[in-house]
Amino acid sequence: MRWTNQDKIYVIVNAKAGLGSGTSRFVRKILGLSDREDMTHAELLARLKEELCAHAFDCQIAETASSGHGTELARQAVEQGYKAVIAVGGDGTINEVATGLKGTDVALGIIPFGTANLLAMEMGIPCAIKEACDVIRKGQTRRCDMGEIGGKNFVVMAGVGLDAYVVRSVTSTLKEQWGALSYVIQTVAGLCSYRLKPITVELPTGEKFSPYFIFIQNGRFYAGKYLMAPAASMQDGYLDMISVMRPNPADVMAYLLGQGKKHPAVRVDKITSCRLTDHHLFECDGDFAGEGSAEVKVIPNAIEIIC
Ligand SMILES: [Mg+2]
Repeated sequence: MRWTNQDKIYVIVNAKAGLGSGTSRFVRKILGLSDREDMTHAELLARLKEELCAHAFDCQIAETASSGHGTELARQAVEQGYKAVIAVGGDGTINEVATGLKGTDVALGIIPFGTANLLAMEMGIPCAIKEACDVIRKGQTRRCDMGEIGGKNFVVMAGVGLDAYVVRSVTSTLKEQWGALSYVIQTVAGLCSYRLKPITVELPTGEKFSPYFIFIQNGRFYAGKYLMAPAASMQDGYLDMISVMRPNPADVMAYLLGQGKKHPAVRVDKITSCRLTDHHLFECDGDFAGEGSAEVKVIPNAIEIIC
C-alpha cells in the first residue's frame, strides 16, 4: 500500500524520549547502538513539528502517559481513519504502537529515539530525525510478520529467562539516569544473582529439548548491532529461535561476538510455533512482558511498516 501527503498521520511520542540521552555516548558506541541525536524532549517535539507537520502532512501529535498507552492511542488512530501512525521512541514504544496496528493496513512509521533502535536498524531507517522523516514522506511500505509469546506481541525479538530477568530489573528511573549503561550494569548484576535453569521447548513435531537461553527473533539484531539471527527475515513467515544448550553465559557472548556464526552450543530453528512448558520470565522488544509457561507463534503479514 502507498499513501500520500494528503493523508492524515498520527504521531505517538514516548513522553520519556530524550531523557538520559546525553549520559552514555561512549557506552552506546561500545554496544554498537545507533548514534541518535541528542536533544531534550521539548526540542524533539519542535523538530517533529518542523520536519513532519510543517511538511505537507496534516498531523496530530500525542504523547504516551503510561506504559501500554501507545497501544491504546494507536487503536484510536485506526478507528479515526488515520492512514499512518508514527512511533517516536525506542523498540518498546514501537512495540506498543505495532500492537495497536496489528492486522490493519494502517502503516507504522518509525522515528528512532530510544535506548536501542533494533527495528530501525533492521529496516535501514536512519537515526537522524530529518532523514527518518524523509523516509516517512516517501511512504514506501513493507508488510512484515510479528511474533507472539504468552499472549504478548513482539516486532523484533523476545527473550526468555535471564534476558527477561535483566530487562525486568532495568527500571525506568535507572534508564533515565544511565541510558544504555543500565542494561550493562543489570546484566552483570543478573549474572551474579540469577540461577540458570533449563527452558523446555516443545515443537509442533513433538520434539522436545531444553536449552538454558532462548532468543526468539523476528529481526536479525539483538542488543545493538549483534547479529543474533543472521538468517532471519521479517517477511518469511517464520521466527528464528536461537537456543543456547549449555548453562554458560560465555557461550551466548561468544555466539554474539561471532555475529551469529555456527557455534557448538547453539541450535537454530525456524519455527512457526512452539510451546515453552515451564514457568519462566519473558520479555518482548526489550520490555518485560510476563511470566509462566507460554505459547509462541509467528503472526504472518501482521503489519505494514514504512521503510
Ligand atoms: Mg522471520
